Amino acid sequence: MRNIDEIDDEEFENDEYDEEMNDVSYEPECPVCHSEGDCEHVLATFGVTEGTVSGPICKHIDEMLNSIAGFILKHETFPPPLVESSSYGELREAVTASRDAGDSLGDALDAEYGLALGVLRDILEDREGVSWEEYEIDESSGTWGYMRYYAADPNQVIAEVNQYLSSNC
Ligand SMILES: [Zn+2]
Repeated sequence: MRNIDEIDDEEFENDEYDEEMNDVSYEPECPVCHSEGDCEHVLATFGVTEGTVSGPICKHIDEMLNSIAGFILKHETFPPPLVESSSYGELREAVTASRDAGDSLGDALDAEYGLALGVLRDILEDREGVSWEEYEIDESSGTWGYMRYYAADPNQVIAEVNQYLSSNC
C-alpha cells in the first residue's frame, strides 16, 4: 500500500512534466504591450513551415499578392527600396518557369504561395516601426517555425504596404 507522501511526489513530477511541455511551445512577447499571444499590435503571423499567414493582414492578402503578380509581369526586381529581395527573385524565376510551361499567372503564383509570402515578409521588414520575432512550436508531427510581426498601429502599416505596392505596379 502507498502512503500519502508517495502520492504527493507523483503529482509533483506530473506538474513538472507539464511545465516542460509548455516551455517548448512558447509564443513571443509583444514589444509594444508585452503580452504573449495575440494582441492588437500583431500585424501578421506567418507559418513558415506550412506556408500560411494569419492576422489582420489576411483581409488584404489577395490584393497584395495580385500586386506582386503585377510586379512579376512588369519588373525584373522590386522597385526601391526593396530591390534586394532575394525571395522576389526566386518567386519571379519560379513563376516565369511555370508560365513558360503553360500555367496561368494565378496558378503559377498559387503553386509558389510560400515564396510569395516570403516576399511579403521582406516588404514588412523594410517598414519603419515593424518588428518581428521568430519562434517554434514542437508538436508530435514535428517542429513548426513561425514569424510574428508587430507594429504599434498594424492598420497603418497595412495601408503603407498597399500604397507601396499599388504605386509601383
Ligand atoms: Zn501588444
